[in-house]
Amino acid sequence: MIRNLVILGGGTAGWMAAAALSQTFRHDGLNIRLIESDEIGTIGVGESTIPAIRDFNRLLGIDEQEFIRETRATPKLAIKFSGWGRPEDHYFHPFGQVGHDIHAVDFHQYWLSLRNEAGIAEFSRYSIAAEAAEQGRFSLPSQSNNFWSPTFNYAFHFDAGLYAAYLRKYAQARGVERIEGKYLGADRNPETGNIARLNLASGASIEADFFIDATGFRALLLNGVLDSQYESWKEWLKCDSAIALPCSSAKPLKAFTHATAHSAGWRWRIPLQHRVGNGSVYSSEYISQEDALDDLLKNLESEPLAEPRYISFLPGMRQEQWKHNCVGVGLSSGFLEPLESTSIYLIQFAIQKLIEYFPVSPDFSLTQTEFNLQLTKEYLRVRDFIIMHYAENQRDDSVFWQDCRNMSLPEGLAYRQAMFRNAGIVDPTQYGVYAAVCLGQNLIPEFYDARVNEMPATERKKILQEIKLEQEAFISRFPKMDDWLLSLGANLGATK
Ligand SMILES: Cc1cc2nc3c(=O)[nH]c(=O)nc-3n(C[C@H](O)[C@H](O)[C@H](O)COP(=O)(O)OP(=O)(O)OC[C@H]3O[C@@H](n4cnc5c(N)ncnc54)[C@H](O)[C@@H]3O)c2cc1C
Repeated sequence: MIRNLVILGGGTAGWMAAAALSQTFRHDGLNIRLIESDEIGTIGVGESTIPAIRDFNRLLGIDEQEFIRETRATPKLAIKFSGWGRPEDHYFHPFGQVGHDIHAVDFHQYWLSLRNEAGIAEFSRYSIAAEAAEQGRFSLPSQSNNFWSPTFNYAFHFDAGLYAAYLRKYAQARGVERIEGKYLGADRNPETGNIARLNLASGASIEADFFIDATGFRALLLNGVLDSQYESWKEWLKCDSAIALPCSSAKPLKAFTHATAHSAGWRWRIPLQHRVGNGSVYSSEYISQEDALDDLLKNLESEPLAEPRYISFLPGMRQEQWKHNCVGVGLSSGFLEPLESTSIYLIQFAIQKLIEYFPVSPDFSLTQTEFNLQLTKEYLRVRDFIIMHYAENQRDDSVFWQDCRNMSLPEGLAYRQAMFRNAGIVDPTQYGVYAAVCLGQNLIPEFYDARVNEMPATERKKILQEIKLEQEAFISRFPKMDDWLLSLGANLGATK
């Protein structure tokens, strides 16, 4: 059994790992130390999440209302995509269901049968999450026993710096020791190749049985010491650069991340209680940094609160995320890109798997292999989901979008897209909202499920209209999101 564990790096990944491990193994005598360097700092972005974050909060036993106040968080019900199919298009990736199954057939099949009829709304708008997000309303799904309550879910937007600070307080209260210091190098056990100790600029040497590399893109242990190779996916994910630029908060708040396509990538908008996080994600091969900044500034809704922050990245993952006695968590293990806000989710996934497969014997090669398999599978699943957004575009306004449309897809994705294009068949291993994203991108199937025609078209149309009316009546009872946050004691003022 591991007794001494050291986490190198104190960004979101490092403190999430420290919090979860200190909570899970609090009675097992696991000694956890975290080394971080204030001088180096964190990446400072990563503020939009998916609903899985609520499972992480539950694992930690966190009080959600306190979490919202401390991290200046806002609820997130959806991602709104603008300009991803054609420049004038908008659609939502809502958290939760769209419509409901009818006679055990997916709702999107019924929608497909009626989509050209008058009075039929855009597909994702038959969802509580999308509609409430657009209207700037929010309520907890659990606070009503209405039929529609369990059909939606939510995540959070939060301040990345405050989130790390919040988890740090949590982990330190559970015995995690924080060491301020700059890592210089490591010594390895000559027999096993395992990392034996980390050497700091202060002259201190920190020994442990097991290490977590949470050093961000630097990957100081996984890459720097253990030479775990990086697999690039730039062939499909062309964006390799970002500019982050916060601006002052605009009220009323709306519970969605906005992803707006531009000529060589996209811009994000993340509403927090006290500011709006903005950024541009772009391919440096198709647009210059100056032009990307110019586009971002032109679209900023209020005055910037800081200098632009420039970030370069290479989409991909490390082939061995667990190598010898070291696991990479966070950006050290890989990064796709910010679209669909999945990086913090992948951190959470890695931590969850590490907890499940935590070494309990000196030979942990089997669990290590399984960990690497599971992580690779999950990375590939998320990767293909993101690639689909780029591949299924109909924009003709730039070479970037034309190249995205014409690229050859990874085999599994090409097959799944063909299945959807044929008869709207959704791969069961993909996300529940896969149909919403495909249809939002105008990937319209040629045929629909034969069972749908068992019901006359007039009856189908009546059901869809009733769904919309019931959903609207339900949402009209939700408070405005600003009021909901204020009722929790949130501070919507502009203080940092
Ligand atoms: C443009 C962009 C937008 C993003 N948006 C989202 C989003 O909306 N949602 C999402 O889920 N994710 C997003 N991400 C990803 C997200 O930012 C990361 O997953 C998250 O912040 C975790 O980062 P990290 O902790 O791995 O790395 P970092 O934050 O870089 O932390 C690294 C840590 O290692 C320490 N360190 C480094 N070198 C040394 C050394 N020599 N000695 C001691 N300590 C050292 C640093 O001080 C720091 O504490 C985004 C990423 C980018 C690039």
